[in-house]
Amino acid sequence: MALPHHLAQRLRSARTWIALGILAPIGMVIISGMMLLDLRRDAWTMADQTSKNLMQVIERDIARNVEIIDLSLRAVVDNLKAPGVADSTPELRQLILFDRASTAPDLGAMIVLDENGDSIIDAASVPPRKLNNADRDYFQAHKANPKLGLVISKPLISRLTGDRVVVLSRRIDKSDGSFGGIVLASLKLSYFRCLFDQIGLGKDGAINLYLRDGTRLMRHPFVEDDIGVSIAGTDNFNRFVREGRGSFVGTSVRDGVERLYNFTKVGEWPLVLNVALSTHEIEVAWGVKALVIGGVMLILCGLTVLLSLLYGRDLRRQAAMQAELAELSRTDDLTGLPNRRRFEETFESLWAGAQRTGRSFSLLIVDADHFKRYNDRYGHAVGDEVLKGIAACLKRSVHRPDDLVARVGGEEFAILLADTDIEGASRIAAKLHEAIASLAVPSAGLGAGAVTVSVGLAVGPAGTASPDALYQKADAALYAAKEGGRNQTRFAPRDRENTSVVTALRSAHA
Ligand code: GH3
Ligand code: MG
Ligand code: MG
Repeated sequence: MALPHHLAQRLRSARTWIALGILAPIGMVIISGMMLLDLRRDAWTMADQTSKNLMQVIERDIARNVEIIDLSLRAVVDNLKAPGVADSTPELRQLILFDRASTAPDLGAMIVLDENGDSIIDAASVPPRKLNNADRDYFQAHKANPKLGLVISKPLISRLTGDRVVVLSRRIDKSDGSFGGIVLASLKLSYFRCLFDQIGLGKDGAINLYLRDGTRLMRHPFVEDDIGVSIAGTDNFNRFVREGRGSFVGTSVRDGVERLYNFTKVGEWPLVLNVALSTHEIEVAWGVKALVIGGVMLILCGLTVLLSLLYGRDLRRQAAMQAELAELSRTDDLTGLPNRRRFEETFESLWAGAQRTGRSFSLLIVDADHFKRYNDRYGHAVGDEVLKGIAACLKRSVHRPDDLVARVGGEEFAILLADTDIEGASRIAAKLHEAIASLAVPSAGLGAGAVTVSVGLAVGPAGTASPDALYQKADAALYAAKEGGRNQTRFAPRDRENTSVVTALRSAHA
């Protein structure tokens, strides 16, 4: 299917190609930029989702285990009040008070202490292992406050096993409500460590478990010095406590790494858990992708711009060359004057313009006199020199930009003068005779006055039927000038006058 003309023309324009070559890459850059931003958003969503899922799994595990231990502690507190328990044998009492949960591998010890902090019942041994924990914070806290419920201690070294543990404890009230001691279960920190260590979070990812007071119970990756450290009062921890559950990007006070924090309370217990991924690591895979895609994109865009600029330059050159060829095809080789083709085009358009405006223009046909003789006497090369000389004289005789001097035949020239009546044209004719009269061709030994021309002059378009008719009138006037003795100008008659040549203008130099 053929393209519409104006579209085909647009496609051949250098400007169109340069504009396309710049707009297309801008479009590509915008689209790939949006795509990369989308990928970045995906990376963050993925990281956030993964953190949340992990956190949920860990939180459930810890919450369930703390709950099971607490249930066992409550059972001990309740069962101690049951009738007959206080009076039964130590072996029976142990069986009644402690269920199988007390033998779980992560539990260090489960012991009842009296109001002085001495061990009186031990889930693992009858008689109980000797121990006094009256100095421990949790013991003092229960003693001072009957309403604490479950207390989870800071990380401690177990006096019985030497393990790192946290102690979960509940107060035992005497029948009169006064302090009757506590029941405690120690949970090994290795439980948390094993739980966290199953999870890979990258080099700078971390999982932290804190007490509500800001004391760190466990961190993954594990570093001994992190355990027991308090981050109470830091912006991050304040936010964990204030909001209970959520996520934000913050910088760690521990190592200065920026992370995406997902945090939550652990069940109803006084514990705070967070899973934190390094923002750098979240973006690193995306960054590599962005670099590759961005790089390829930029190279492609650069190439596109370059190619379209080159193509545009080619089109420009081609257009310039075509214009030059067109100009050449309308130029006479020997004299450099416009040739017959250009003359005819100008003549046609001048004719059409004059038809429209009604203003007259003049046509002069200039023919070298006895030109054959120069050729015969001095040779063709000299003849050419004379022709060039005549051309220069004719050009010098006209001044307006619209005036056209053309070589229309061997030794024949034509001059078109727009907006020029007979008076103006005859002035030009006189001028050109004058110029020719002073023409000398030293290479041929021709002095001034040796070369003459005859001119036929016609004014159009008034009353003339066509450009051809006007040309014939000028030609007839030229013939009359030749007949009349050469070296002169003759005017073609106006149509309403006699068709014979009536006016003669002899050059002042004749
Ligand atoms: P007239 O005064 O009647 O015009 O005589 P003329 O000799 O000029 O006219 P004619 O038409 O008999 O001869 C024209 C000559 O012009 C013929 C040819 O040798 C010469 N001529 C035509 N074109 C060229 C050209 O390009 N170079 C040269 N050197 N001579 C040319
Ligand atoms: Mg001639
Ligand atoms: Mg001739």
